[in-house]
Formats: sequence, structure tokens, C-alpha cells
Amino acid sequence: MNFSELKRLLKELKSVAPCRECGHIFEDTEINVVGTLHDQGFFVGHCPVCQHDLLINVHVQARRPAHRSISKRGPSNSPSLKPITQNEILDLCNFLKDFNGDFSSLFSKQ
Ligand SMILES: [Zn+2]
Repeated sequence: MNFSELKRLLKELKSVAPCRECGHIFEDTEINVVGTLHDQGFFVGHCPVCQHDLLINVHVQARRPAHRSISKRGPSNSPSLKPITQNEILDLCNFLKDFNGDFSSLFSKQ
């Protein structure tokens, strides 16, 4: 997902994902990007009215045609991906709450 797609997605999110508790329409500054994958985005909206946090997962459909050419080499050898579970998303949110942005320390822990 590139920056312009992310920007467009945030604009759409504001109109279709109001606060579930009070209906507040989120402003740009009230939605944080947790992360993006190929065709998915994870966002957290913080409502200043009722202090409710909303975790938003968006799956973007590709604009490419639905059909694909079949390779002469046969099916891909890439492993199939498991769906992301709710617990994995919560783990990510908990990790990001305390993460100070120090990637060099994070990757040197291994
Ligand atoms: Zn609210």
C-alpha cells in the first residue's frame, strides 16, 4: 500500500467508520496507522468525546482483474498465509503502545 492509497483510505475511513460508542466522526489527527500489509491496513481511532479506542482493519480489493494467467511452471511454491487472528492484532497494539521507535535495539535482541 503506497502513500496515496493510504491517504485515500484514511479519507474514506472517516466517513464510514465513526466512533462505535458515540458516533463521533474521526478527524485525521484522531486516526493512527498501526501498520499496513499488501492489501490490508490496521488503524486505531481515538475518540476525544467518549475516550473510546476503535481498532479498524481494512482489506483493500485489488484493482487488477480478478483473473490471473497460470504459469507454465505450475502453482506457486509460496506457503499459504494464515489469516491474522484478533489476538495477534491485540498483541501488536499492546507492543506498539510501549514501543519507543528504537528499531536497532529491537532487532539486536535476537
Ligand atoms: Zn466516541
